[in-house]
Amino acid sequence: MATFIVLLGPPGVGKGTQAKILAETTKLAHVSSGDLFRENLKNQTELGKLAKSFMDKGELVPDGVTISMIRDRISRPDCEAGAILDGFPRTPAQADALETMLSEFGSHVDVVPYITGDESVLIERVSGRWTCRAEGHIYHQKFSPPKKAGVCDIDGSELYQRDDDKIETVTKRIHVYLEQTIPLVEYYRKDGKLVEIDGMQTVEQVTKELLVALKK
Ligand code: AMP
Repeated sequence: MATFIVLLGPPGVGKGTQAKILAETTKLAHVSSGDLFRENLKNQTELGKLAKSFMDKGELVPDGVTISMIRDRISRPDCEAGAILDGFPRTPAQADALETMLSEFGSHVDVVPYITGDESVLIERVSGRWTCRAEGHIYHQKFSPPKKAGVCDIDGSELYQRDDDKIETVTKRIHVYLEQTIPLVEYYRKDGKLVEIDGMQTVEQVTKELLVALKK
């Protein structure tokens, strides 16, 4: 049966970094709702234009379009064995929709690692973050700077600061998270799927604990 892993946690806790590592290790697809919106934005699609108006304010894109975007994505052949879901679901309605779509595929959410972090550290992490234009590789001006300023170590593409990583928007994103996404912690805890992991440890330590959680 396919394996679906939902990574839960506030903005800046390292979900994206960990999702990339886990996808490589487990060979499961990495499905990031934020990356999908940014891809749509880059390609100037209608969905991209709609999403931008919410993303720029640090708000969530409406459930309906978000859910259908994810449904399309996980229907693709590379998700047949399952996927690491990064940034989706973010509301109880999205979590319900995910249950329904996975049950249509004869599957379900297997495990929900919940990566936790302190608000002040998260703000510092996100507002110093630089993202690679080509593949979304992530750097931090203080904690993990690239070898050459402004250039991705891995693929040489330009690094940029996401508009929504600016400090005012980050604060708003964290509040939106506390209001709309935190209910999912109880949602998945009730199902016995939640595994709490301290995201304030090193990247390596968090990966190690995630891999232990996935084996269960
Ligand atoms: P992320 O890269 O996961 O931090 O997402 C960036 C932005 O995309 C968020 O601040 C939201 O505006 C939007 N977004 C990403 N995932 C979702 C989702 N599951 N539901 C609604 N909006 C989302």
